[in-house]
Amino acid sequence: MNIPIAKPIISNEEVKKVVNVLKSGMLAQGSVVKEFEDRFAGYIGVRSAIAVSNGTVALDIALKAAGIGRGDEVITTPFTFIATANAILFQGAKPVFADIDPDTYNIDVNSVLENVSSKTKAVIGVHIFGHPFDVKSIVEVCEDHDLILIEDAAQAHGAEYEGRKVGSFGIGCFSFYATKNMTTGEGGMITTSDEKIAEKCRLIRNHGENSKYNHIVLGYNYRMTNIQAAIGLAQLEKLDEFNERRRRNARYLNSHLKVEGLVKPYEAKNVKHVYHQYVVRLEEEFPMKREEFMEYLSRHGIGSAVHYPTPIYRQPLYIELGYGDVKCPVADDVSSKVLSLPIHPALKEEELKYIVEVVNSVA
Ligand SMILES: *Cc1c(COP(=O)(O)O)cnc(C)c1O
Repeated sequence: MNIPIAKPIISNEEVKKVVNVLKSGMLAQGSVVKEFEDRFAGYIGVRSAIAVSNGTVALDIALKAAGIGRGDEVITTPFTFIATANAILFQGAKPVFADIDPDTYNIDVNSVLENVSSKTKAVIGVHIFGHPFDVKSIVEVCEDHDLILIEDAAQAHGAEYEGRKVGSFGIGCFSFYATKNMTTGEGGMITTSDEKIAEKCRLIRNHGENSKYNHIVLGYNYRMTNIQAAIGLAQLEKLDEFNERRRRNARYLNSHLKVEGLVKPYEAKNVKHVYHQYVVRLEEEFPMKREEFMEYLSRHGIGSAVHYPTPIYRQPLYIELGYGDVKCPVADDVSSKVLSLPIHPALKEEELKYIVEVVNSVA
């Protein structure tokens, strides 16, 4: 067998919609992008969605629209993809790292509170691996300290906190990279019900242009194409089914994986986890070292990956910027122990059985 860690599902619907766009001759941002935005906004439950080139750009625009700039501090988690923190650096602002929760791996509200200062302007929470962060507590801190909440939902399309979709609590930022829960190849989306923020995002996306060749703010070309949006429309229709399959696969692994020292993913009672990754933690009692185990899986044709091996403050770029003394003990511990196993919706039943067989054989 050869089971990759991730695999997008592209079928006839995507092909047909893309061919229609190609034949129409309207390739750049146009009516198909608008339709994708409207559908996505409806799905998340917000007034506006703004389609952009990728998830990194979504974060960049969201922070700019929120007015984050030089001298401001933004609190976020160090246990995420580098783009989350880099988006803060792009503003000339300072990322401040809060530690994470040892069960969900999400930003820890107590650590956020400890890090609030007079310069703090915003919090970027990440719904890591598809498990929503503790929205209620984080929203409360933001309200108490007058902070803007940005949700990095790049791994959490369709995830829910107390029955409500993530991306609807703060300014939501999504990615449609090929391995995410839904894809457009590359792509991103910003979600908000604040019309002022939405309008700023649209301006920044397109050269600050409010009417033809009239430019009122400094903007970029951060647009999405109709070709990407066509893929996105087809994927959005299948998102719930994709997520249901991810959840079913997770239930299967949860009930069948049995090795001492292998800690399975946690799902809080009040959330819907969409398992962008199925992340296990290998404690002392586990019979192999992590690298040795990955090698073993690879020899048996099973892909695996470490999300993420290095807390952001330990990245060379951040050491260079003076983050060498930052201490987040939980993030350090977790990043040395986690491993992602295949969970994607394209997995077949016999592949899941095989993964269980191989993993359990290390006992
Ligand atoms: C993928 C991802 C991003 C960046 O999205 P791109 O579309 O790759 O630019 C940002 N944050 C998190 C948590 C991600 O997983």
